[in-house]
Amino acid sequence: MTPSIIAIDGPAASGKSTLGAAIAKQLGYLYFDTGVMYRVVTCVALARAIPIEDEGAVTALAEQVKIDVLPPTANDGRQNTILADGEDVTWAIRARAVDAHVSPVSAYAGVRRALSAQQRRIGLGGHVVMVGRDIGTVVLPEADVKIYLDASAEERARRRYLERLARGEPADLHTVLREMRHRDRIDSSRAVAPLKRADDAVYLDSTGLTIEQVIARAMEIVRAAEKSNGE
Ligand code: C5P
Repeated sequence: MTPSIIAIDGPAASGKSTLGAAIAKQLGYLYFDTGVMYRVVTCVALARAIPIEDEGAVTALAEQVKIDVLPPTANDGRQNTILADGEDVTWAIRARAVDAHVSPVSAYAGVRRALSAQQRRIGLGGHVVMVGRDIGTVVLPEADVKIYLDASAEERARRRYLERLARGEPADLHTVLREMRHRDRIDSSRAVAPLKRADDAVYLDSTGLTIEQVIARAMEIVRAAEKSNGE
């Protein structure tokens, strides 16, 4: 039987979203990018001038804000349409200010509690490819397939830099690399649900591989899990 819950974790710009969306499409599964939820909370906090260092206020926001992930409603390269309390924030959550503040927000225990409970409920519905930092370790430890997707920091920075340029945003490769390393450091060292490879996750290094090669390798991992299920 095809594995029903597939978890993909890894650092920023390792290619998780592209891989997760591609696998979900091939299997006819729901694709769910959990980073979107932490980004929405950060984006709304910034828009409402809630101080990021105010843990109580940011946590209350995470508990209250209604996040909807819908099929794309515009043909502008989006994978999904993301609503925060009904407002389209699909591109706003990708802004540099959100990148700069999302890691401290996602280190708050109460924020993680609020968001990972919703993620777990969605994941347990099955037929899902869920992508994030702590899916295989905390949100869905019972996932049938766990992939830890990695790439060198230089390659990940280069990908993020090219994405920015493609969107017509100004970008500097060295700044992108520095900011990304900073975010990785916070994500990996926080007390609650840090980014780390689950013991039973398959490590996949995408450095030097094309997207097609990474997808093919991940599908091999999925198929191997299918066989080891004995069906
Ligand atoms: O994957 P993405 O870069 O969009 O995630 C944004 C941020 O959200 C990460 O840097 C991390 O701080 C946080 N995150 C998390 N746990 C997840 C997914 C994302 O802490 N499962």
